[in-house]
Amino acid sequence: MHSLLILFDIDGTLLLTKGAGRAATRAAMLRVFGTCGKVDTHEFSGKTDWFTLVELLGAEGFKENDIAHRIPAYEREMAHFLENFIGNYTVNACVGALPLVQRLRKTPHIHLGVITGNVNAVAPIKLRAAGFAPDWFPIGAYGNESIDRNLLPALALGRANRYYNHIFRPSEVIIVGDTPMDIACARALGAVAVAVATGTVSYDDLAAAAPDYLLRDLTSFESVVLDNLHHAA
Ligand SMILES: [Mg+2]
Repeated sequence: MHSLLILFDIDGTLLLTKGAGRAATRAAMLRVFGTCGKVDTHEFSGKTDWFTLVELLGAEGFKENDIAHRIPAYEREMAHFLENFIGNYTVNACVGALPLVQRLRKTPHIHLGVITGNVNAVAPIKLRAAGFAPDWFPIGAYGNESIDRNLLPALALGRANRYYNHIFRPSEVIIVGDTPMDIACARALGAVAVAVATGTVSYDDLAAAAPDYLLRDLTSFESVVLDNLHHAA
Protein backbone atom coordinates (compact mmCIF):
# COMPACT_ATOMS: atom_id res chain seq x y z
CA MET A 1 0.00 0.00 0.00
CA HIS A 2 1.56 3.34 -0.98
CA SER A 3 1.56 6.31 1.36
CA LEU A 4 -1.05 9.02 1.03
CA LEU A 5 -1.01 12.58 2.31
CA ILE A 6 -4.50 14.01 2.84
CA LEU A 7 -4.67 17.79 3.30
CA PHE A 8 -7.98 19.14 4.55
CA ASP A 9 -9.34 22.64 4.22
CA ILE A 10 -10.92 23.71 7.53
CA ASP A 11 -13.97 26.00 7.08
CA GLY A 12 -16.82 24.35 5.19
CA THR A 13 -14.85 21.10 4.91
CA LEU A 14 -14.06 19.95 8.45
CA LEU A 15 -16.26 22.38 10.36
CA LEU A 16 -18.56 25.41 10.35
CA THR A 17 -18.12 28.25 12.86
CA LYS A 18 -21.44 29.97 12.11
CA GLY A 19 -20.27 33.57 12.36
CA ALA A 20 -17.51 33.32 14.95
CA GLY A 21 -14.80 33.75 12.31
CA ARG A 22 -16.45 36.85 10.87
CA ALA A 23 -16.91 38.39 14.33
CA ALA A 24 -13.25 37.79 15.22
CA THR A 25 -12.12 39.15 11.85
CA ARG A 26 -14.14 42.32 12.42
CA ALA A 27 -12.64 42.87 15.89
CA ALA A 28 -9.07 42.04 14.84
CA MET A 29 -9.24 44.33 11.80
CA LEU A 30 -10.54 47.20 13.93
CA ARG A 31 -7.74 46.64 16.47
CA VAL A 32 -4.90 46.33 13.92
CA PHE A 33 -6.04 48.51 10.99
CA GLY A 34 -8.63 50.83 12.57
CA THR A 35 -11.27 49.77 10.05
CA CYS A 36 -12.99 46.56 9.04
CA GLY A 37 -14.20 47.72 5.63
CA LYS A 38 -17.10 45.70 4.26
CA VAL A 39 -16.39 42.64 6.40
CA ASP A 40 -20.09 42.12 7.19
CA THR A 41 -20.87 41.17 3.58
CA HIS A 42 -17.46 39.70 2.66
CA GLU A 43 -17.34 36.25 1.06
CA PHE A 44 -14.53 34.41 2.87
CA SER A 45 -14.88 30.99 1.26
CA GLY A 46 -11.73 29.68 -0.41
CA LYS A 47 -9.67 32.81 0.25
CA THR A 48 -6.63 33.16 2.45
CA ASP A 49 -7.08 35.60 5.32
CA TRP A 50 -4.25 37.65 3.82
CA PHE A 51 -6.17 37.85 0.52
CA THR A 52 -9.31 38.85 2.44
CA LEU A 53 -7.40 41.69 4.13
CA VAL A 54 -6.09 42.91 0.77
CA GLU A 55 -9.62 42.88 -0.67
CA LEU A 56 -11.27 44.61 2.28
CA LEU A 57 -8.48 47.09 3.07
CA GLY A 58 -7.43 47.80 -0.52
CA ALA A 59 -10.87 49.35 -0.90
CA GLU A 60 -10.05 51.56 2.13
CA GLY A 61 -6.79 52.82 0.60
CA PHE A 62 -4.32 50.48 2.32
CA LYS A 63 -1.27 49.40 0.31
CA GLU A 64 -0.38 45.71 0.11
CA ASN A 65 2.91 46.42 1.89
CA ASP A 66 1.16 48.04 4.87
CA ILE A 67 -1.02 44.98 5.16
CA ALA A 68 1.88 42.52 4.84
CA HIS A 69 3.77 44.21 7.70
CA ARG A 70 0.79 43.89 10.02
CA ILE A 71 -0.04 40.24 9.28
CA PRO A 72 1.76 38.98 12.43
CA ALA A 73 -0.17 41.45 14.63
CA TYR A 74 -3.38 40.50 12.85
CA GLU A 75 -2.72 36.81 13.48
CA ARG A 76 -2.24 37.46 17.22
CA GLU A 77 -5.41 39.55 17.48
CA MET A 78 -7.47 37.04 15.46
CA ALA A 79 -6.47 34.26 17.84
CA HIS A 80 -7.21 36.48 20.85
CA PHE A 81 -10.68 37.49 19.70
CA LEU A 82 -11.67 34.09 18.33
CA GLU A 83 -10.70 32.44 21.60
CA ASN A 84 -12.95 34.94 23.38
CA PHE A 85 -15.90 34.75 20.97
CA ILE A 86 -16.07 31.14 19.87
CA GLY A 87 -17.94 29.90 22.93
CA ASN A 88 -20.86 32.17 21.97
CA TYR A 89 -21.34 30.46 18.59
CA THR A 90 -22.51 27.02 17.54
CA VAL A 91 -19.43 25.38 16.06
CA ASN A 92 -19.99 21.99 14.47
CA ALA A 93 -17.96 19.46 12.57
CA CYS A 94 -19.30 18.99 9.03
CA VAL A 95 -21.29 15.82 8.34
CA GLY A 96 -18.99 12.82 8.39
CA ALA A 97 -15.82 14.82 9.03
CA LEU A 98 -15.05 13.85 12.61
CA PRO A 99 -15.52 10.07 12.27
CA LEU A 100 -13.62 10.14 8.96
CA VAL A 101 -10.60 11.87 10.46
CA GLN A 102 -10.69 9.56 13.46
CA ARG A 103 -10.55 6.54 11.14
CA LEU A 104 -7.93 8.01 8.79
CA ARG A 105 -5.52 8.95 11.54
CA LYS A 106 -5.42 5.31 12.67
CA THR A 107 -4.74 4.04 9.14
CA PRO A 108 -1.00 3.31 8.88
CA HIS A 109 -0.26 4.47 5.33
CA ILE A 110 -2.40 7.63 5.57
CA HIS A 111 -0.92 10.93 6.80
CA LEU A 112 -2.90 14.06 7.57
CA GLY A 113 -2.47 17.81 7.39
CA VAL A 114 -4.39 21.02 6.71
CA ILE A 115 -4.37 23.66 3.99
CA THR A 116 -6.43 26.57 5.16
CA GLY A 117 -7.00 30.24 4.53
CA ASN A 118 -7.04 30.75 8.30
CA VAL A 119 -4.01 32.34 9.90
CA ASN A 120 -1.96 29.69 11.69
CA ALA A 121 -2.88 30.58 15.29
CA VAL A 122 -6.61 30.39 14.52
CA ALA A 123 -6.62 26.86 13.12
CA PRO A 124 -6.24 25.00 16.45
CA ILE A 125 -8.94 27.15 18.08
CA LYS A 126 -11.49 26.26 15.38
CA LEU A 127 -10.45 22.60 15.29
CA ARG A 128 -10.75 22.17 19.07
CA ALA A 129 -14.16 23.89 19.15
CA ALA A 130 -15.50 21.36 16.63
CA GLY A 131 -14.07 18.31 18.43
CA PHE A 132 -10.85 17.75 16.48
CA ALA A 133 -7.49 17.58 18.27
CA PRO A 134 -5.14 19.97 16.45
CA ASP A 135 -2.29 17.46 16.69
CA TRP A 136 -4.21 15.09 14.41
CA PHE A 137 -2.97 17.49 11.69
CA PRO A 138 0.74 17.83 12.49
CA ILE A 139 1.58 19.78 9.35
CA GLY A 140 -0.18 22.48 7.38
CA ALA A 141 -0.01 25.68 5.38
CA TYR A 142 -1.93 28.75 6.46
CA GLY A 143 -3.50 32.00 5.34
CA ASN A 144 -0.83 34.20 6.93
CA GLU A 145 1.81 32.62 4.69
CA SER A 146 0.61 33.71 1.27
CA ILE A 147 -1.96 35.94 -0.38
CA ASP A 148 -2.35 33.22 -2.99
CA ARG A 149 -3.88 29.92 -1.86
CA ASN A 150 -2.25 28.18 -4.83
CA LEU A 151 1.16 28.63 -3.16
CA LEU A 152 0.09 26.85 0.04
CA PRO A 153 0.18 23.22 -1.20
CA ALA A 154 3.93 23.37 -1.94
CA LEU A 155 4.55 24.72 1.58
CA ALA A 156 2.46 21.95 3.12
CA LEU A 157 4.13 19.29 0.99
CA GLY A 158 7.64 20.36 1.98
CA ARG A 159 6.65 20.22 5.65
CA ALA A 160 4.96 16.83 5.18
CA ASN A 161 8.04 15.39 3.47
CA ARG A 162 10.17 16.39 6.45
CA TYR A 163 7.69 15.54 9.20
CA TYR A 164 6.63 12.15 7.82
CA ASN A 165 10.11 11.39 6.45
CA HIS A 166 8.66 10.42 3.08
CA ILE A 167 8.85 12.17 -0.27
CA PHE A 168 5.21 12.30 -1.37
CA ARG A 169 4.67 12.42 -5.09
CA PRO A 170 1.90 14.85 -6.11
CA SER A 171 -0.26 11.87 -7.11
CA GLU A 172 -0.01 10.69 -3.47
CA VAL A 173 -1.46 13.98 -2.20
CA ILE A 174 -5.20 14.51 -1.81
CA ILE A 175 -6.50 18.04 -1.19
CA VAL A 176 -10.03 18.20 0.20
CA GLY A 177 -11.99 21.45 0.14
CA ASP A 178 -15.37 23.06 -0.30
CA THR A 179 -14.71 25.69 -3.00
CA PRO A 180 -13.38 25.99 -6.58
CA MET A 181 -10.30 27.69 -5.05
CA ASP A 182 -9.48 24.48 -3.16
CA ILE A 183 -9.72 22.58 -6.45
CA ALA A 184 -7.44 25.14 -8.13
CA CYS A 185 -4.84 24.83 -5.37
CA ALA A 186 -4.86 21.04 -5.74
CA ARG A 187 -4.27 21.54 -9.48
CA ALA A 188 -1.38 23.91 -8.73
CA LEU A 189 0.44 20.99 -7.08
CA GLY A 190 -0.82 18.24 -9.38
CA ALA A 191 -2.61 16.70 -6.39
CA VAL A 192 -5.91 14.82 -6.38
CA ALA A 193 -8.73 17.35 -5.98
CA VAL A 194 -11.65 16.30 -3.79
CA ALA A 195 -14.55 18.75 -3.43
CA VAL A 196 -17.20 18.41 -0.74
CA ALA A 197 -20.50 20.31 -0.77
CA THR A 198 -20.74 21.00 2.97
CA GLY A 199 -19.63 24.64 2.72
CA THR A 200 -21.09 27.68 0.99
CA VAL A 201 -20.62 26.47 -2.61
CA SER A 202 -23.39 24.28 -4.09
CA TYR A 203 -22.84 20.78 -5.41
CA ASP A 204 -23.60 21.96 -8.97
CA ASP A 205 -21.17 24.87 -8.80
CA LEU A 206 -18.47 22.52 -7.52
CA ALA A 207 -19.25 20.09 -10.34
CA ALA A 208 -18.68 22.93 -12.83
CA ALA A 209 -15.16 23.36 -11.41
CA ALA A 210 -14.41 19.71 -12.35
CA PRO A 211 -12.76 18.20 -9.25
CA ASP A 212 -11.43 14.63 -9.50
CA TYR A 213 -14.03 13.56 -6.94
CA LEU A 214 -17.15 15.39 -5.78
CA LEU A 215 -18.90 14.41 -2.56
CA ARG A 216 -22.15 15.57 -0.95
CA ASP A 217 -20.41 15.16 2.41
CA LEU A 218 -17.42 13.33 3.86
CA THR A 219 -19.36 10.17 4.81
CA SER A 220 -18.54 8.76 1.35
CA PHE A 221 -14.85 9.77 1.27
CA GLU A 222 -13.46 6.27 1.75
CA SER A 223 -15.88 4.45 -0.54
CA VAL A 224 -15.64 7.01 -3.36
CA VAL A 225 -12.11 8.40 -3.15
CA LEU A 226 -9.85 5.92 -1.36
CA ASP A 227 -11.30 2.76 -2.90
CA ASN A 228 -10.84 4.24 -6.38
CA LEU A 229 -7.28 5.38 -5.70
CA HIS A 230 -6.41 1.92 -4.43
CA HIS A 231 -7.78 0.36 -7.59
CA ALA A 232 -5.82 2.83 -9.69
CA ALA A 233 -2.59 2.27 -7.76
MG1 LIG B 1 -13.32 26.22 3.01
